[in-house]
This record gives sequence, C-alpha cells and structure tokens, in this order.
Amino acid sequence: AQDPRLARIASAIRVIPDFPKPGILFQDITTLLLDTQAFKDTIDLFVERYKDKEISVVAGIEARGFIFGPPIALAIGAKFVPMRKPNKLPGKVISEEYSLEYGTDTMEMHVGAVEAGERALVIDDLIATGGTLGAAIKLLERVGVKVVECACVIALPELKGRERLGDNPLFVLVNAP
Ligand code: AMP
Repeated sequence: AQDPRLARIASAIRVIPDFPKPGILFQDITTLLLDTQAFKDTIDLFVERYKDKEISVVAGIEARGFIFGPPIALAIGAKFVPMRKPNKLPGKVISEEYSLEYGTDTMEMHVGAVEAGERALVIDDLIATGGTLGAAIKLLERVGVKVVECACVIALPELKGRERLGDNPLFVLVNAP
C-alpha cells in the first residue's frame, strides 16, 4: 500500500497549463510549500529514506533543488552543495554541458565542494527528460563522488527520464498523470 502522506503531497502540487510556453503543463511546487503538513511530509519521506545511507553530501539543482535539499541535508547530517546555472558561482568551477529539447545548457559546481570518495544524494523538484539530473551525476562522478541515488518530488514518466540516468537509481514521490 502507498504511504498515506503521498496523496496529500500530490494534491498540493498545482498544475498550470501553457507555462512557460504553450503546450507545457507546469508542475508548480510553490503551493506544496504553502501546505505546512504536505511540505513537512515531503521532507520527512526523503529523510526517512536517506538517514541511514551514509550520505555525506546533498547536491541540490538550481533552483527548486535549493528548496528541498537543505532541510534534508540538515536532518541527515550531510553538507549541501548547490549545482548552478552558468556564471553564478563566484569561485573556481567545473562545468558539464547537457542537451535540452532545443539547444544546450550548462551546470556548474564549485571545485573543492566535494572530495573523491564522498557519497551523494542528488535532489531536484522534478524529472522530465532526465538531462538535468544526468548532468549532475556526471559532474559528481568526474570528481570521484559516488551518487547513491537521485530524488525528485515529481516525475513525468512519459518522458522516460529514468532511461537517461543509466544504472543510477531514481526515487520519486509522485508520478504526474
Ligand atoms: P529535464 O532535464 O528534462 O529532466 O527537466 C527537469 C528540469 O526542468 C527540472 O529542474 C524541473 O524543475 C524543470 N521542469 C521540466 N519540466 C517541467 C514541468 N513540466 N514543470 C515544472 N518544472 C519542469
């Protein structure tokens, strides 16, 4: 049986059609943040799953991975590392380019934020094609970090993002219909 907390989380996510452009069904997690019970349950579900997995770093993807990542990191005793859009981080960075539907994007991480041999959880609000999480995995693996799992609040299963993550496990709370 499914955890009873998941139904409330699913119903707290607002869906906005045609944002940011026609044809996109935007999954808006800002309404989840307004529901104090559903927001707490979201964090608790991740913390329950990851607290005993010896994770030393939670890597959060800009921008909405910065909302869910830090409370999880604090609760499991891990550090938080932001994975950012280009030219945002002030120190020396390593970058990974990845493909989008049209064109490419780049993700950056500070050099020295993680060490080889560390164990990471990668967190974002949503997986669509998996390109974003795939880039985060590559960046972490390039510096010798073991990605234990990727976690998202929402998946859009039709886009088959899981396939782009190779053998890396993915955990999601809610599958969007
Ligand atoms: P992807 O790289 O295709 O898996 O896209 C995932 C990234 O794009 C995440 O950072 C999401 O926040 C954002 N994203 C993609 N599609 C949506 C959507 N339908 N609603 C909200 N965010 C989305």
